[in-house]
Amino acid sequence: MKHPKEEQTYVMIKPDGVRKGLTGEIIKRFEQRDLKIVALEMFQPGHEQLDNHYPKNEEWITRLGHKTLTTYEKYGYDAMLDFGTIDPVVIGPEIRKWLIDYMKTAPLVKMIVQGVHAVDVVRKIAGPTMPYLAEVGTIRGDFSIDSPALANKEKRAVMNIIHCSETPEEAAHEIKHWFGDVKVCDYKRFGVDE
Ligand code: ATP
Ligand code: MG
Repeated sequence: MKHPKEEQTYVMIKPDGVRKGLTGEIIKRFEQRDLKIVALEMFQPGHEQLDNHYPKNEEWITRLGHKTLTTYEKYGYDAMLDFGTIDPVVIGPEIRKWLIDYMKTAPLVKMIVQGVHAVDVVRKIAGPTMPYLAEVGTIRGDFSIDSPALANKEKRAVMNIIHCSETPEEAAHEIKHWFGDVKVCDYKRFGVDE
């Protein structure tokens, strides 16, 4: 079992976050919460590396479809019209493809963020997946407003500024995938580590 201060999560600033010039703002929000950046790089990955980043199991892919259907139902939009089906098993893979296309449109910034309950706290700072539902004060709530109602009509993924791991297991997997066996930079934060 790791020390509570050593929990790590994987964060990636997406094309819209980079292009809105939010890299510094995002890092600031993690650091001001006493989380520590222990690895950081701007880069532009290829198709295969992105394809292997996003889960390929049916449960995860279907969940993408459900996220669309929930919004469409709530606001009275017609999924049949945009997708030709209301089956999340069919809609999901389409969204996964849009997502990978979107992630290729600009450089990304990848980082490892470390600290107490880093996985959950980073997701809280980020806000929920759908920016239109995100509270003011979260990254997504302060800098974006996208919704599947708009995104899917434009045949694209929802733009929500950053990616962050959902569980410590997913974090470990993603850190390995994006950073390999890189040795993180350890240092003592004033007021946090001493
Ligand atoms: P992330 O994994 O990017 O941190 P998340 O865990 O909140 O976000 P996931 O369900 O893992 O959300 O979806 C991955 C990404 O796919 C989302 O961040 C968003 O960009 C996009 N996405 C998810 N659902 C939809 C949808 N219904 N329509 C369009 N894009 C979607
Ligand atoms: Mg996710």
